[in-house]
Amino acid sequence: MDFAPSPLALQLRERLLAFMDRYLLPYNAAWHAAVVAGDYPPPFLEDLKTLAREDGLWNLFLPTLRDDEPGTRLCNLDYAPLAEAMGRLPWAAEVFNCHAPDTGNIELLHRFATPPQRTAWLAPLLEGRMRSAFAMSEPDVASSDPTNLQTTVRREGDHLVLSGRKWFITGAAHPHCRLLIVLCRNADADGADSHHRHSMVLVPVDTLGVQIVRNISVLHHHAPEGHCEILLQGVRVPADHLLGDWGAGFAMAQARLGPGRVHHCMRTIGQCELALRLATERALERTAFGKPLAEQANVQEWLAESRIEIDQARLLVLHAAWLLDQGDAADARTVRAQVAAIKVVAARLQQRVVDRAMQVFGAMGLSPDTPLAAFWTWGRALRLMDGPDEVHLRTVARHELAQARAGLGDSAAYFTTPEQLRAPPHLSA
Ligand SMILES: Cc1cc2nc3c(=O)[nH]c(=O)nc-3n(C[C@H](O)[C@H](O)[C@H](O)COP(=O)(O)OP(=O)(O)OC[C@H]3O[C@@H](n4cnc5c(N)ncnc54)[C@H](O)[C@@H]3O)c2cc1C
Repeated sequence: MDFAPSPLALQLRERLLAFMDRYLLPYNAAWHAAVVAGDYPPPFLEDLKTLAREDGLWNLFLPTLRDDEPGTRLCNLDYAPLAEAMGRLPWAAEVFNCHAPDTGNIELLHRFATPPQRTAWLAPLLEGRMRSAFAMSEPDVASSDPTNLQTTVRREGDHLVLSGRKWFITGAAHPHCRLLIVLCRNADADGADSHHRHSMVLVPVDTLGVQIVRNISVLHHHAPEGHCEILLQGVRVPADHLLGDWGAGFAMAQARLGPGRVHHCMRTIGQCELALRLATERALERTAFGKPLAEQANVQEWLAESRIEIDQARLLVLHAAWLLDQGDAADARTVRAQVAAIKVVAARLQQRVVDRAMQVFGAMGLSPDTPLAAFWTWGRALRLMDGPDEVHLRTVARHELAQARAGLGDSAAYFTTPEQLRAPPHLSA
């Protein structure tokens, strides 16, 4: 097991960091000002995207790109340090066409789209000419269990008709969002088992009956690209807008989340690294009661704990990325459990590390003058996004239990019985 990035990944990481220093950080304040002014996406974003693409920093995430598709074809392990670097600046990923939820949607389309669907949706997404959203969660049912979903799709002649309500749909308020990938319950699902009742449908945002009801703020944080509530009222699309097979939606939704979670986790680790660095510098510069904060034992302990926890988490995430790269050679249940584990670890890590950093900063840590408040909000949201912690813990526990069941009794030799204590074995030649 070797988690060292390849020479190409190292070289790309250097280029990416240099690009961010040279082009993105100088625009950071302007990006925030544009968002506050309602001027989103900021006019310079397209120019930055063009520069990034010319620099070969484009679609860095998808190993299975075809020869005629733009991108670097890095494996998950090689992409991880690049995602970590991008994570430091939450709007950076879009410049490199590596932003969620489009990355996950691109993976879905890449695996399951028909040739016409590829032309209509995958190609413009890979070119960064449009955005998309993934619509699964619903206000009326516990969406951490997707078998509950109630938005229906029924077949009517050569059309599909959708009705229901979705919410927290990330990216749907982006002015360039053209496509919703909607997970629906099949109207004729009765009798099918709970994992074969759902289908995915490609719905152009401008289809009659699609209504973006509101952009929901998250802990009072307003994301310009949106976490939207969407009403679907008798939405009719041609039957060829079905993605994959009828009834295969649940399995496809599961498949979508593997690499995407590694991306989220690596971006989180990038934010944690930045939070730790900011806290460390602040502790060196700020003096209270006659000495720098850095000389207080509790501050040192916070910094040390953050360093240790970040490094632990990174190794776990890299291991998950490595497992994903093994493809069919890795046991699918182990991969699923490991991906679930990193999702829990990264979200919790972000809250702890950023919380400590905010405390080091005092009141300023809660202000918009540092990125910490936004990072903390994101960490809290991450404990629900892509499934709540508890569901992932359940996955990890089930895997552990399954392994123990398979070898039940294997650990019996580690017990000591009174009989053994009375009559220890003699070594024989
Ligand atoms: C910022 C943000 C962005 C999001 N973006 C998207 C998006 O783009 N597309 C999309 O479809 N959805 C999105 N979501 C929604 C997210 O996926 C759901 O919130 C999540 O799956 C949980 O579903 P729920 O909110 O219905 O909670 P519920 O399913 O009602 O669960 C509530 C709580 O019940 C507990 N619970 C549930 N199951 C178990 C269990 N098995 N064991 C123990 N406890 C359990 C957990 O504590 C959980 O938090 C986003 C959410 C947020 C906050």
